[in-house]
Amino acid sequence: MSALAAQSASASSQAHEAIAAALLTWFSKSHRDLPWRHTRDPYRIWVSEVMLQQTQVITVGPYYERFLAHFPTVGALANAELDEVLAVWQGLGYYSRARNLHAAARVVRDCHGGQAPGEPAALRSLPGVGEYIAAAVLSIAFGHDIAAIDGNVKRVLCRLFDCAQDPDRAEGRRTLRGHAQALLPPGRAGDFNQGMMELGAIVCLPRGPLCHACPVSRFCQARAGGLQEERPLRRSRPPVPHRELVAAYVVRGERLLLLRRRPEGLLGGLWELPNLEIAASEGEAEAVQRLLQERLGVQAKVGEQLATVRHAYTHYTLTVRAYRCELRGEPQAKEPWDAARWVSIGEREALGLSGVTIKVLTRLPWPGERLF
Ligand code: SF4
Repeated sequence: MSALAAQSASASSQAHEAIAAALLTWFSKSHRDLPWRHTRDPYRIWVSEVMLQQTQVITVGPYYERFLAHFPTVGALANAELDEVLAVWQGLGYYSRARNLHAAARVVRDCHGGQAPGEPAALRSLPGVGEYIAAAVLSIAFGHDIAAIDGNVKRVLCRLFDCAQDPDRAEGRRTLRGHAQALLPPGRAGDFNQGMMELGAIVCLPRGPLCHACPVSRFCQARAGGLQEERPLRRSRPPVPHRELVAAYVVRGERLLLLRRRPEGLLGGLWELPNLEIAASEGEAEAVQRLLQERLGVQAKVGEQLATVRHAYTHYTLTVRAYRCELRGEPQAKEPWDAARWVSIGEREALGLSGVTIKVLTRLPWPGERLF
């Protein structure tokens, strides 16, 4: 290495150390008091990181407490039925997270003596544990020197280093990982990672970053160039498709017919009203008849329309119109469901319901439900 190159490497390493030191000092004074910051228990940290993926801190808090009250250990989660886990998770969305957490807890119970593994390859092999969750748990709970890069951290890194690459493509990811690892202060990865996440969550905001309150502003290359709002690069998103569905509201005595989705897929394991996407050439009443005959194997009378709800998932939006129906015969659960049940209002709490079904049922009384 030439003397000039050595000098430049040393200056850059000093800048990295100064950034990490400023961030750690700020984090120790300014971090929010969040329930998962009071523990080093790998299971509890793992649960928090799973919940925090795709969900905001303010929403996660009560769910986190409730989940751990029901399942205080990996063993308690592993021994629970999936229906119970989904019922406790209900309302948090992205149910594949709960299904994976439950499946992973069973692997931990059966293969790791009931303790979340602190060995990177073993942790990474668990269902639902990707690069980010593994890095967060390993650094915070086990003290490994690994950078954890979530969406907030990506944004901070893109701005700090004025990175003009797409952070979601391989080259951009490699660049950011290199910057994050270079910043990481040995032995302090847990606090450093949490500090970066916190900075992205409350200071380095997606729009209108609070640079005047930022502990690393003097090092920030995007700020120096006035490019904060242009980092990270934004990709234009294709329009979100919309689907039209019908649903059947079928009552027997004081019980409502619900079906459970097969375990795989977006809503796997959740209970819902029988429903079907309307075909392009079909009317709504026709679609309800097709739903009842082809999917439930019963003849039926289709009554009036009771409710219309709209719902948005990440990749598409829905309009669902619910119709009262009277069945002649016993319904069979066919694809995409694996169980049918007549559910009383008292049994409702024990089942995980899909978000759309919850919305429809807030507009319709449960059979036998007293409204006043
Ligand atoms: Fe983000 Fe502004 Fe801080 Fe740069 S100075 S890291 S843009 S908050």
